[in-house]
Amino acid sequence: MELKIGWLYPTLMSTYGDRGNAICLQQRALWRGIETSIVRLDRDCDAKTFEEVDIFVGGGAQDRQQEIVMRDLQGAKASAMRAAIEAGVPGVFTCGSPQLLGHYYEPALGQRIEGLGILDLVSKHPGFEAKRCIGNLAFEIAASPLAEELQAMLGKPAVIIGFENHGGRTYLGSVQALGKVLRGYGNNGEDGTEGAFYRNAIATYSHGPLLPKNPFVADWLLQKALERKSSQAVSLEPLDNTLALQARSAMFKRLDLATLANTP
Ligand code: GLN
Repeated sequence: MELKIGWLYPTLMSTYGDRGNAICLQQRALWRGIETSIVRLDRDCDAKTFEEVDIFVGGGAQDRQQEIVMRDLQGAKASAMRAAIEAGVPGVFTCGSPQLLGHYYEPALGQRIEGLGILDLVSKHPGFEAKRCIGNLAFEIAASPLAEELQAMLGKPAVIIGFENHGGRTYLGSVQALGKVLRGYGNNGEDGTEGAFYRNAIATYSHGPLLPKNPFVADWLLQKALERKSSQAVSLEPLDNTLALQARSAMFKRLDLATLANTP
């Protein structure tokens, strides 16, 4: 069985290092003998290619590139993407990607850009005079059933370490927040929410990239993808996460969250 990792618009949406999420998924699968391929969902690919994806990875982008993507991701491709997420295909969507999965994004310059409307959220850039939300980010996963599933995996609440860099502010409608901000800005720097969670789609402002810093999220995505594909329960072989744990401990200390320093 081969998992297809669908990487959204790599030539346009690779500004913030989120490619590391695709590499992390691929490597953690490989260490367990699971074959993967990375499918580049660029402008020249058709809707059928979207239908074959087992895990989506979408990264951040600058407003200009995001606008080009949002214009391309219409019609049959948009329907395929919507159907996949509704059907529970797992995915990790970072920063610019969640903005395009919401109802719209209002850039600092130019017109409002319509999004796919899969996530009940809107994003607005308040203008270039407003401060960008930049810095290390820590948040506790709060969305259900993700929080419970990760807690069962870890034996304690899941805390994400990441890095954010965005001008846009996101405001949630009825969609669940992915987490509760411990350090940093999160969705908008106002309401303490970070990201969104819908079906098996994880939307977040956290770069880092997210998955190498929080390998349990990579494993959750792989497990969901394998379970969907095989129609049976899957339990992944544990891996040695020593280096990731050391990096996490260092960041927790730096962010004055030392009590979390031993969190997986
Ligand atoms: N262009 C968007 C913003 O500034 C997304 C940035 C990003 O993907 N890091 O809000």
